[in-house]
Amino acid sequence: MSEQFILRRENFGELFAALKLRGYQVVGPTVRDAAIVYDELDSVEDLPVGWTDEQDGGTYRLKKRSDNSLFGYVVGPNSWKQFLHPPTVRLWQIAKSGTTFQIEEEKHAVPKRAFIGVRACELRAIAIQDKVFLGGSFVDPPYQAGREGAFLVAVNCGQAGKTCFCVSMNAGPKATAGYDLALTEILEGAEHYFVVEAGTTRGAEVLGQLPCRPAQKLEEEKAASMPARAAAQMSRSIDNAGIKELLYANMEHPRWEEVAARCLSCGNCTMVCPTCFCTTVEDVTDLTGEHAERWQKWDSCFTMDFSYLHGGSIRNSTKARYRQWMTHKLATWIDQFGSSGCVGCGRCITWCPVAIDITEEVRSIRATDLRTKLSKEKPDDGNIRTNPG
Ligand code: SF4
Ligand code: SF4
Repeated sequence: MSEQFILRRENFGELFAALKLRGYQVVGPTVRDAAIVYDELDSVEDLPVGWTDEQDGGTYRLKKRSDNSLFGYVVGPNSWKQFLHPPTVRLWQIAKSGTTFQIEEEKHAVPKRAFIGVRACELRAIAIQDKVFLGGSFVDPPYQAGREGAFLVAVNCGQAGKTCFCVSMNAGPKATAGYDLALTEILEGAEHYFVVEAGTTRGAEVLGQLPCRPAQKLEEEKAASMPARAAAQMSRSIDNAGIKELLYANMEHPRWEEVAARCLSCGNCTMVCPTCFCTTVEDVTDLTGEHAERWQKWDSCFTMDFSYLHGGSIRNSTKARYRQWMTHKLATWIDQFGSSGCVGCGRCITWCPVAIDITEEVRSIRATDLRTKLSKEKPDDGNIRTNPG
């Protein structure tokens, strides 16, 4: 663990100033449309000062806190994905010039951004998307353009929402890797300060410009107790033991029909998920036919078009689409990218209009695993059989 420092609340604006001085556009949480969303911030006053969120399956409410905490909420409907993997990106344009065409590839000029308030589960989600967009044979240029310049200021969680389950996904609530600076907010009576540590050289350089002093042992202990408190508040979890094999063996489980009877196939869960990355492309032309553009847009495995191939959709039932989404998140993702595609942020539970809960779906399938049912129906009779050939 690197050395920890104390930045007092009244000096927090200095962090904004130091980042802006280095050419960063500061992006972080702010209150808009009755939610805490991520957007460009001018100053500390734009943060959700004194606000918290109440979440549960299909429920999200903002509430005033009794204090002036800057980061006293959990996560909202946005994730950093909207900046690193934007919902719409122009890939190229083409202009007619006489009898030929000029193709202009997009430059993907993205401002250097500092993200303030990145939670541990979100750091993990960014690491997962790094693998998807940068880790294979083909690099995604728009993602690369945004990611290379990004400065990440993590905030350790001091409270958990009712839909959080990052502990069971080994993704939080304490930031352990992938940040430039990590903060823990401490608010006790009139005392309001941040315990700060650097995770990179450039993080240490920014920290060196702030009016900080070394943390005392008691302050470090208080900072360590905050994520422990958040972890203790978490009521949801996923048992990941053998989850890939569990889901592969239960493709025909009746639970998929039951969840499909409730699922609206709206795709909200994929839009709010910080790791979902599927896209489609659309070509558009102007009315003269002289100019055309190709755009990449977020898509969802819940749409019929997403699996459209040669005259029909491969997954034409809600059952097939929900099963595809959950099995990809928790099982095939492991084969594809070497980790789970879920970080336990709980957004898909909060923002599902009918409160479908991925943790409950896994629990239900595990409790009625078809493999157990089959072995009960055909109990081992103790006979040793030879292969008849
Ligand atoms: S599947 Fe749900 S809980 Fe998991 S990362 Fe996506 S939105 Fe968060
Ligand atoms: S699980 Fe919920 S959020 Fe996802 S598609 Fe179905 S109804 Fe929409």
